Amino acid sequence: MTEPAHLPSIDSLLHYSKCSSTLVDTFGHELMVNALRQTLGEARQTKINISEAQIIEKCRNLLVEWTTPTLVPVINASGVILHTNLGRAPLSEVAYQQIQNVAVSYNNLEYDLDIGKRGSRFIHAEQLLLRLTHAEAACIVNNNAAAVLLVLTALAQRKRVLVSRTQMVEIGGGFRIPDVMRQSGAKLVEIGTTNRLHLSDYENALREPAAMVLCTHHSNFKIVGFTNEPSLQEICSLVHQKGVLIFHDLGSGALLDTAKYGLPHEPMVQESLQAGVDVVSFSGDKLLGGPQAGIILGKKELIQKIKKHPLARALRPDKLCLAGISQTLLTYLTGKAESEIPLWQMISLSAQTIHQRAVLWKENLGCGDIIEGRSMIGGGSLPDESLPTFLLAIHAKKPDQFLKTLREQSVPIIARIEDGRILLDPRTVLPHQEKLFLESLKQVLLNWKE
Ligand SMILES: *Cc1c(COP(=O)(O)O)cnc(C)c1O
Repeated sequence: MTEPAHLPSIDSLLHYSKCSSTLVDTFGHELMVNALRQTLGEARQTKINISEAQIIEKCRNLLVEWTTPTLVPVINASGVILHTNLGRAPLSEVAYQQIQNVAVSYNNLEYDLDIGKRGSRFIHAEQLLLRLTHAEAACIVNNNAAAVLLVLTALAQRKRVLVSRTQMVEIGGGFRIPDVMRQSGAKLVEIGTTNRLHLSDYENALREPAAMVLCTHHSNFKIVGFTNEPSLQEICSLVHQKGVLIFHDLGSGALLDTAKYGLPHEPMVQESLQAGVDVVSFSGDKLLGGPQAGIILGKKELIQKIKKHPLARALRPDKLCLAGISQTLLTYLTGKAESEIPLWQMISLSAQTIHQRAVLWKENLGCGDIIEGRSMIGGGSLPDESLPTFLLAIHAKKPDQFLKTLREQSVPIIARIEDGRILLDPRTVLPHQEKLFLESLKQVLLNWKE
């Protein structure tokens, strides 16, 4: 043991053992020196005797702590398909491959290969979007919050924008329509009441000049009871007579009809455009199933104006986003969304298939009960909407502690508790993670002290 007063030097510790040189090789000289410095400092302060081997061991722990990534894959057994806290939509294999292709090489992000000169990054997914939706023009930005901010700023700054009180939404993470409106410099004009909106509300407000009507999809809430909202089509025809623009913030932006899967019908991008909106925006990583992005579609001259606005430069998407979005859109265009995009695979899983997986889990683990339940869509789409599923329910004393232990696995497992039981939903456990999921769970159950 070394007296705190006579601690070894950093130099001698660097060469102390095979272990210290391995640490230098793995973590680099500089980080190792930092770890030694911190460990020696603490030893000096605590005045507790410490051996060289103990110092090296403490350093190893520090180095591992400093270099472990904070963003890691997890296994989602929660049954929430689009979980914003869990990174929303997992990418399709083909989208991932295309991102990888582009990432490790130079690419033509802003280079026109025909003329050998500077091009625009905004062209990349545009043709695919136009083919899929029949919009006149398209523009992609960092996320849908950025899309809403940019559209309002570019088309309605310092001008009146009408928003119904039935649509004054707050999305998770502090995105609130009135706040975004303020940021953009547009002047918010509230119309209607919390539960009811009529065409005459628009008519009355449009007696004074306005630039735009903003319609926002409810996304994460429902208004029930004595309610009213005119259809998008009705609003469009009225608003266009007055020469005012209509912008639809669709939120999730489904390209496929959710009603096909036994869900309520989520408004689709194509329907917004058909109804006659001038501009529509939606997220890339909600029901589209791609990477984070904000997609703006609409009339050519408006999209042109949006692309040219200085704010567009600050909100522009990166090459990896464009690669992932393009490939995801291509999957829709070739009719393969349901078979290749994990989100649609999960949504289209039959209850019977899920039941079979739950049975396999139960047999594999040797415990649990199979019960009926619901998987949630989540992610600011289809509020309250869920799909029938089968869950594996595990009884464990101290369920909160059990859940915590699941989160501490090498690949953390996210589950939920209901009525004191741990519930695991096969629908959201990705096939490539299932083996590891069962192995981890088995270990946890073996070691669980009731
Ligand atoms: C989710 C959502 C947003 C925000 O989209 P992000 O892609 O998360 O930035 C904006 N508006 C509505 C209606 C939404 O549902």
